[in-house]
Amino acid sequence: MTNLVAKWNYPTTVRFGAGRIGELPDVLRDAGISNPLFVTDPGLARLPVVASTLRILDEAKVRHAVFSDVKPNPVESNLTAGIAAFRAGGHDGVIAFGGGSALDLGKLIAFQAGQTRPVWDFEDIGDWWTRADSRVIAPIIAVPTTAGTGSEVGRAGVLTNEATHTKKVIFHPKMLPVTVIADPELTMGMPRFITAGTGMDALAHCLEAYCAPGFHPMADGIGAEGVRLVLANLPRAFADGSNLAARANMMAAAAMGATAFQKGLGAIHSLSHPIGALYDTHHGMTNAVFMPYVLAFNRPAIEERIARLAAYCGIAGGFDGFQQEILSLREKLSVPHTLPGLIEGLSIDDERKNLIADMAIVDPTAGGNPVELTKDAALALLEQAIDGRL
Ligand code: NAD
Repeated sequence: MTNLVAKWNYPTTVRFGAGRIGELPDVLRDAGISNPLFVTDPGLARLPVVASTLRILDEAKVRHAVFSDVKPNPVESNLTAGIAAFRAGGHDGVIAFGGGSALDLGKLIAFQAGQTRPVWDFEDIGDWWTRADSRVIAPIIAVPTTAGTGSEVGRAGVLTNEATHTKKVIFHPKMLPVTVIADPELTMGMPRFITAGTGMDALAHCLEAYCAPGFHPMADGIGAEGVRLVLANLPRAFADGSNLAARANMMAAAAMGATAFQKGLGAIHSLSHPIGALYDTHHGMTNAVFMPYVLAFNRPAIEERIARLAAYCGIAGGFDGFQQEILSLREKLSVPHTLPGLIEGLSIDDERKNLIADMAIVDPTAGGNPVELTKDAALALLEQAIDGRL
């Protein structure tokens, strides 16, 4: 019988709705932040969406500085530079503004700026987070501009360790933003590749959380509704980026995915993390490539659950119908069916395959997969994703 004992955490205050970015000065005031560091990425920094947000701060006479040295898949040197900017400006909080990369780095700057131990000491392992001095963590306001990672409602940041080529999850409960402004208008300028990749990331979160073993009926409910929202809205947001209703539903689904995945993730992420760390691919798009292969691998353990999910989403045909829906969604969004389709000129020799499989099975998400992810299984899934064999 399932052990009906668990720990459930639910997210932060979210001000959701079009135009609510105008409330940023109020939100800062409520959080007691008078001199925020505005953390974003260099691509966004050049776009009108950042200019208009900074204008809101200027008009409200909020002192601030901008830090935008953030790589997609941020690295430790980004964090070091961000902390230097935070200290130099005497900042008392962070506005993390962007996709998962800028959100994570902003959260990590606020977390790490006052710590004395290296950031890797706070990896999401056991109770390592208790090593941190929680009194010096600066408050964070999160403003997502993509609809995928859900980092805005999460208590962790992902940082790539350049020395080991591994993506590490840094965790602390106080990395949870004080307030989120989820304004779907901010996502309307996303290019189609990013709309597709981030949307598939939200789907991967909802789906893997829903399939993860363990007692968390609230996460199951949120995950299932998140899957339904993505299937109904992602093709619409992709086809017409200015469809505000589709953008809003995707923004909700993204936050729901990250809320649900406290229950666990699985092999989609375990395989996608090493690929992202070694080849710098887009996280959500990499998840999207692995999704059907992992679904098929997990079938013996999740067939009935997926059949229930399919029925809830109005999809006929149980597990097979759901798998077909995922394949046709990928096609509509131009998601590559194989890894070579994602990474141009990819050639992976046996040594590399072994390395990826070794990294996948020790990834923290591997434990949440409903079927044990052994080295042989990871290698087989990798081969399938290379050859496109389903
Ligand atoms: P991203 O933040 O890397 O952004 C991708 C690109 O989209 C960038 O070039 C950015 O400039 C651009 N962009 C973002 N918003 C835009 C907009 N509104 N208009 C135009 N361009 C825009 O992509 P992402 O998928 O949001 O985040 C991926 C990162 O998030 C990875 O580093 C991944 O490891 C991390 N992640 C974190 C969590 C978490 O729980 N903390 C979960 C999943 C992924």
